[in-house]
Amino acid sequence: MSRNIPQWLAPTSLQEALALRAQLGDEATVVAGGTFIGILMNQKIMQPQALLSLRNVSELAFIEASQDEGSLLRIGAMTTHRAVERSPLIRQEWPVLASTFSLVASPRVRNQATVGGVLADADYASDPPTLLQALNARVVVRSQKSEREIPVEELIIGYYETSLRPDELLVEVRVPRNRERVVYRKFRSRSSEDRPCVAVAAAQVDGKLRVVVGAVAEKPQYFPEICALAEGETGGYTRELVTEIGQRYAESIEPISDSRGSAAYRRRVIAVEVRRALEEMVP
Ligand SMILES: Cc1cc2nc3c(=O)[nH]c(=O)nc-3n(C[C@H](O)[C@H](O)[C@H](O)COP(=O)(O)OP(=O)(O)OC[C@H]3O[C@@H](n4cnc5c(N)ncnc54)[C@H](O)[C@@H]3O)c2cc1C
Repeated sequence: MSRNIPQWLAPTSLQEALALRAQLGDEATVVAGGTFIGILMNQKIMQPQALLSLRNVSELAFIEASQDEGSLLRIGAMTTHRAVERSPLIRQEWPVLASTFSLVASPRVRNQATVGGVLADADYASDPPTLLQALNARVVVRSQKSEREIPVEELIIGYYETSLRPDELLVEVRVPRNRERVVYRKFRSRSSEDRPCVAVAAAQVDGKLRVVVGAVAEKPQYFPEICALAEGETGGYTRELVTEIGQRYAESIEPISDSRGSAAYRRRVIAVEVRRALEEMVP
């Protein structure tokens, strides 16, 4: 029985990786931690001719923040989930980010899976993209010729679909410093290591509420007009307000049905989990 073994390309610098990307485009599949790609290949859903591994591109594995007020946290695309979860800087300054990454799968997966990988695979049931969108995070994508910075909500455009072009790599995530209130809730309907059935991130960013619901549709769901109901509520949210926002999110989303829950079940959970996230935000 013949078996096609893909060509293994392992650049050692970003420049080299971008050159290969420019030359091969979609003919070579990018591999970061390989936790997603590995499953697709094992199940023969995907049989790439070539794999472009970023494993040796050490300049893409970093966590940095400048100290001044209003600064950004910058996380390189090849930073593992485990590194985010354990970073003293992130634990101190962006604790919700550390705790959200710690909720992904198991330590074994988190030691491999990367920040770039979880965004670029655009799986509808991932945890970090929901929180990153609520925090108004942006990603930096580069090709040999250009660099652009786009909000997470413009990166993920559908089921397993991003706005990345064939010659681009995701190189960095930028998270604004956030000293306001942030909550992430992961509702699982099966095992403790499972992906979410419903994920809710709620954050105050520059005084404005951003509620994002993940794992319920093709991409994280955000409704600024519903969040605007909380405008001017400085002293905490009333029970009526948080119930209304939860209810409106449940009515506005067309939830999917999958093995983690039916559409009708998810709709009920969305209303409750959004309300609970907002209740948790009360100082
Ligand atoms: C058992 C198991 C349980 C899981 N549970 C959860 C969970 O509870 N919550 C959750 O959020 N996730 C979960 N995951 C998903 C896991 O987090 C993702 O598989 C992982 O984040 C993908 O990262 P990776 O580095 O392994 O990506 P890879 O598998 O290497 O790549 C994923 C995709 O992104 C592309 N890609 C990767 N890096 C780049 C880049 N820098 N530029 C452009 N394209 C790129 C690849 O071409 C590929 O299409 C689970 C995975 C497993 C295997």
